[in-house]
Amino acid sequence: MRVIEGADVWIDGDLRRLDIVIDGEVIHGLVAPGTGPADAEKVDASGLVAIPGAVDVHVHTREPGYTHKEDLITCTRAAAAGGYTTIFGMPNLDPPTMTVGDLDDVLALYDAKSIVDFNHNPAAKLVGEIPGLAERGIAAYKIYMVVDTGRSYPHPSAIGVHDHGDLYEAMRAIAETGCRLMVHPHDQRIMDVVEQEYWAKGDRSPQAYGKTLAVDDGIIWDTATALLIRMAEATGCPLHIVHVQTTRQVEMLADARARGIDVTGEVNHWALFLGKMSDIDEQGSYVLSYYVPDHHREAVWEAMELGIVDMLSSDHAPHTREEKEIGWEDAWAAHTGTPGIQYQLPLMIDAWHDGMISFDRLVDLVSTAPAEVFGLERKGSLTPGNDADIALLDLDREWTITNDSVLSKIGWTPYDGRTVKGAVVRTLVRGTDVWVDGEVTGQPGHGALVKPGV
Ligand SMILES: [Zn+2]
Repeated sequence: MRVIEGADVWIDGDLRRLDIVIDGEVIHGLVAPGTGPADAEKVDASGLVAIPGAVDVHVHTREPGYTHKEDLITCTRAAAAGGYTTIFGMPNLDPPTMTVGDLDDVLALYDAKSIVDFNHNPAAKLVGEIPGLAERGIAAYKIYMVVDTGRSYPHPSAIGVHDHGDLYEAMRAIAETGCRLMVHPHDQRIMDVVEQEYWAKGDRSPQAYGKTLAVDDGIIWDTATALLIRMAEATGCPLHIVHVQTTRQVEMLADARARGIDVTGEVNHWALFLGKMSDIDEQGSYVLSYYVPDHHREAVWEAMELGIVDMLSSDHAPHTREEKEIGWEDAWAAHTGTPGIQYQLPLMIDAWHDGMISFDRLVDLVSTAPAEVFGLERKGSLTPGNDADIALLDLDREWTITNDSVLSKIGWTPYDGRTVKGAVVRTLVRGTDVWVDGEVTGQPGHGALVKPGV
């Protein structure tokens, strides 16, 4: 037995001074201070806040295939440092995860290497594979409606789906499985038209790339989102929209939910903390992901507070400096995506201090909601009987994010030099310390597959 003593514990929508009694991998009880078993190992958490370990359903682990960027050990070390106790990986790997065989191979890699608990979202590209993938215990499928032009990664054509008939068939098949479909909404043909206009002018700058994807107040995102919601209504396929970043996406999510359509949405760290044009001017492709104009960012923050957006996922997307540096000459050749899993929770605590989000919404967005939406019954809350997945936070510690602190293989962060108030002091996965006071203590292979409904 272990007892975490002295923390304020987030339970039933409130912070309470309780001790957390852990029996093996499970939360045994929450007890009055000092009343835990006398012979238990004591963990002093005085002055800290305990929240359920964060759950990130959108992580680009890069293994297999792109391990020069990241691998499952480095990725899950960063996750542990960031307070994340469960991750779902993404299928844009080599080979891309499309078949049951691909999935089995990837899950075996996690089994050997992951420090935190995991699942994996295969691509819903081959309709015939969809039932078999569900039988393996996945929680979700992924579809990219985007196919890269001018580069071969991170959205290789092998797994892109934008034909409406193909989407419709996939969603009908997924509806039979009970799993949720995560989609990167995108209108490839509008993108083609707009980017060719920039290219004709000889403008391949990071600013042009950002403006292309944000053209017409977000039409590339909005048309795809409208289509997906209509298809979810028609097919009964539970839908999860990733990269929510426009006012109209927020309106569509609220409207769909009011009409009883099963659609959820996520925001990613870059939309909140990196997406300004001034960020692009300063850091170019290093902060792209996407350009998010201010009025959209404000709408997204409000939607997170109101619960219209369900969760915050990192969309952790590490690329090397070389793969980003080329963006100064040709942003279409730079690999899109930004790393973020290590710093997202501290950035959110900092935003809470600034009044951008309430604490109960913060915990819901990073832990409780993703666990609930994807059916992880033993995650997302510190209720006795659940897995002892815990993040211990120092809400008041001020520190500066630096490239030196990066645990991801790439060794850089777009947040280098940013001072935040809020730190992850200790992370436990099923009762075992994986991050303690600045050191990763979790061992590769500690992580286990977590299936929905278990
Ligand atoms: Zn992504």
